[in-house]
Amino acid sequence: MTELLYQTDSYLGEFDATVTAVEGDAVALDRTAFYPGGGGQPYDMGSLTAQGATWKVAKVRKAGDVVWHQVEGTLPAIGTAVHGTLDWERRYQLMRTHTAMHILCGVIFRNYGASVTGGNMEPLRGRMDFEFETMRQELVREIEDKVNAEVAAARDVRVKILPREEAFRIPDLIRTKINLLPEGIQMVRTVEIVGLDLQADGGTHVANTREVGHIRVVDYKSKGKINKRIEVAVE
Ligand SMILES: [Zn+2]
Repeated sequence: MTELLYQTDSYLGEFDATVTAVEGDAVALDRTAFYPGGGGQPYDMGSLTAQGATWKVAKVRKAGDVVWHQVEGTLPAIGTAVHGTLDWERRYQLMRTHTAMHILCGVIFRNYGASVTGGNMEPLRGRMDFEFETMRQELVREIEDKVNAEVAAARDVRVKILPREEAFRIPDLIRTKINLLPEGIQMVRTVEIVGLDLQADGGTHVANTREVGHIRVVDYKSKGKINKRIEVAVE
């Protein structure tokens, strides 16, 4: 299995690891800071180097407990010590965007009682669907103001890894459908924007909402009778 360094340190941009398996055009490592994608957050990109050779990491995926790094050219052999470097600009933009999405989620639930039904993001751009009956221009501007007030409030973002039973007793997590987690998962990673939002989440986030920057609602549309979509840009 691969130790998931990004789960406990989102700010780790470089790391040392050992190749544990090679398959097709991908290598597995014993530990990695590369996020393999999931929960709406895209995978990281970057490079692996060893003894003067460099491999560009074009894609990362997780299969079971193992993270696979897709590279080009002659693959390093099993047992090779490699140094991994993330495309930090892309990753940090994704951290800011992911936290922006959780701020949006928290504000919409706290102020309007609406739950999220889906979402997706790319660097500095995200969309989220909510169970919302009506969405008007004035309401969108109000949401935008409230979201940016949470950025300005400089709230800390805390990550914890809890035993399943403990996580299942937290009311905020029950609301976000934690009961849908597969049976086999014994530890639950939670991301809390202190005083605003708490979710079971595997993604990488900034440590404080002030790092997000300005959030602008760039579009909104109806996706059915009770589903409304909000699209934001992080600036
Ligand atoms: Zn998330």
